[in-house]
Amino acid sequence: MSAGGAPDVGGLLEGYGAGDLAVATVASHTAIQILLGAKREGLRTIAIAPPGRGWFYSRMWFVDDVLEMDLRELPAAAEELRSRRAVIVPHGSYVEYVGWRAAMEIRVPTFGNRYLLAWEADQRRKMSLMEEAGLRVPRTYSSPEEVDGPVIVKLYGAKGGRGYFFARDPEELRDRLRGVEGPYIIQEYVVGVPAYHHFFYSPLRGRLELFGFDVRYESNVDGRTFGLADPTFVVVGNLPLVLRESLLPSVLRDGESFASAVQERTGRPPVGPFSLESIVRDTLEVVYFEFSGRIVAGTSVYMVHGSPYSLMYFREPVDMGRRIAMEIREAAESGRLSEVVT
Ligand code: AMP
Repeated sequence: MSAGGAPDVGGLLEGYGAGDLAVATVASHTAIQILLGAKREGLRTIAIAPPGRGWFYSRMWFVDDVLEMDLRELPAAAEELRSRRAVIVPHGSYVEYVGWRAAMEIRVPTFGNRYLLAWEADQRRKMSLMEEAGLRVPRTYSSPEEVDGPVIVKLYGAKGGRGYFFARDPEELRDRLRGVEGPYIIQEYVVGVPAYHHFFYSPLRGRLELFGFDVRYESNVDGRTFGLADPTFVVVGNLPLVLRESLLPSVLRDGESFASAVQERTGRPPVGPFSLESIVRDTLEVVYFEFSGRIVAGTSVYMVHGSPYSLMYFREPVDMGRRIAMEIREAAESGRLSEVVT
């Protein structure tokens, strides 16, 4: 084991030559985009499906193999996956189904910087990494007495925005906190529009690529609720977004600062896709409330047609699934796989 609980990558890559690699991912989230992109780059594809989910993926021409299993058993399938020279591509459901500890320890080469998963799993560490990068983040309050404006309260482990609630002022906050159990953070509620920024860090090309933006389509904040329901942020889908062009240079700089902070704290850059999640105020200040250290679901809005911003780097549009596969293929061909997997 190397520092951080992840296995030594050199050992994992034994037997992984230049060719005949497979991309394996959990059959959910962005699996269609990831596996299609892998096939288009000439890699074999494996969908790892929870019981009952495999049939859907087995109908896709670009899925070579479907392994159906209880995903908590995935670490036991590590040898089998290595014998197929598989590289796991993690995504939001992968971490959720397999668990971040198992994801950290699994003995299969994993695309990206898996140390980041541990940071992502902890709300406070997560915010501290963004602060360290010098990004503008919402204020965090340690008690209702400090609060001087609207706040959002986030219970630890809340999923898809369930378990969040709001308060306009300290009185309402104290009232609503009564009866709340378990740890939570009290955060400044930033008034503005959400924008989710997609990046790809390429160790091979030594650069951070700005790939695009999306917004989430969330149940009772985007729904036709007519004041009949409290706000909830359950993600139902995603919509594409272009940002004012004048914001792009500073957004890319923010991404680069974040990548440097990750390098500093984890000893590696945030290899591959990651996302910074923001609210843009009417002053055009971008305030970051979250990051995802892996591909986000909103990149699928550019599936096949590719992100328009990918044309800043490539002569034809590329989507995130294909971009991942390009990096894996090129790394294998140049003997640099150990730089793109952990
Ligand atoms: P999350 O599940 O953390 O992605 O958050 C769900 C939603 O809550 C996001 O899509 C944002 O729109 C909103 N949100 C989270 N934190 C804040 C904040 N500090 N200020 C304003 N909105 C927020």
